[in-house]
Amino acid sequence: MKTNCLSCKYYKIKDTQSGLCRMEALTSGNREAKKPKVDAEDHCEKWINCGQTYYIRLGWIKSNSPEAEKE
Ligand code: SF4
Repeated sequence: MKTNCLSCKYYKIKDTQSGLCRMEALTSGNREAKKPKVDAEDHCEKWINCGQTYYIRLGWIKSNSPEAEKE
């Protein structure tokens, strides 16, 4: 598993390449905290392994990628 936003507990997937970082919202308990847009391949020092969720995200990306629509 790569250490990137896609495999991070704080990531919320939005499309096949990007999502939102919920680190501040989840660690502060402030639901109004900013959730900046991040690239799936980005990463930072706050990264935490999301475990099995990573494979669920990979499956979602695969089924929503342009290549999948051609099949
Ligand atoms: S920016 Fe850091 S904390 Fe946020 S999703 Fe990416 S790795 Fe996780």
